Amino acid sequence: MSTSLLYHGFGLRGYRFVRHRFHDGAIHLGIEHAPGSLCCGRCGSTNVWKAGTVPRQFKTLPIGPRPVFLELAVQRLWCFECGATRQAKLGFAGERVGYTRVFERYALSLLRLATIKDVALHLGVSWDTIKDIQKQNLGRRFGKPGLKQLKRLAIDEISVGHGHRYLTNERARLEEALALNRPLATAYYLKEDLRQFWEQPGKRQAERFLNDWIARASSSGVRMLQQFAQTLQSHRHGLLNYYDYPITTAALEGTNNKIKTLQRQAYGFRDREFFKLRIYALHESRYALVG
Ligand SMILES: [Zn+2]
Repeated sequence: MSTSLLYHGFGLRGYRFVRHRFHDGAIHLGIEHAPGSLCCGRCGSTNVWKAGTVPRQFKTLPIGPRPVFLELAVQRLWCFECGATRQAKLGFAGERVGYTRVFERYALSLLRLATIKDVALHLGVSWDTIKDIQKQNLGRRFGKPGLKQLKRLAIDEISVGHGHRYLTNERARLEEALALNRPLATAYYLKEDLRQFWEQPGKRQAERFLNDWIARASSSGVRMLQQFAQTLQSHRHGLLNYYDYPITTAALEGTNNKIKTLQRQAYGFRDREFFKLRIYALHESRYALVG
């Protein structure tokens, strides 16, 4: 192993190869800081004094089936800017993690093909490590969604708890019930009739239709319908907006299905923030979503 191979193979710049050893089926590569490359790990200042070292180990790209670890006595520095002792900036790894950036990128590329569980097993790290790698990556890319270009917003809800179960009525039983129960028949008729609200030729006709429907529901004598008429009355502005901006939630229904698949494959998400980020990245998911 040469310093040049460390650079080209493992993305290490500013380090020298010192030794290698084999232990428990893994390859350990000893490296050291090249002289003159030290700066504060927090603020990047080079206005520093050496203050001892701390031994650390970083998991990096495997060589074939063999896990590879980098071993480094990380230089500790007294930083005059921070006024504190910090570890030197490493470049090849984040501040408080036990794996390298190339390892991170490798894991992310595998996550495009396999589940978190598969990737963790393949790379010999915990499920949480791979999840954290993905969460951080998603956070960087989707943590603050840009809404500048947003023109219209359609809102739909999805149940993320235990789903409601909708039972379908058999047609025959419905007919029977309608014949026996006059208020139910009225409600059923009005409910079916209300669909026509969405098929009016224009806003004015829709408004007339809505007024008419609300009047009929209010005088139906069925308390539920009267309440619903009031609800429609208070939302009339939003409902009629449909005729200015005919947005439907049809596209969202497709998204909802994908979210449900995502949830099923992950057997639920305990980390709400992670779940949200995964939804933002939904457009990147392949037909077989991975959890
Ligand atoms: Zn500093």
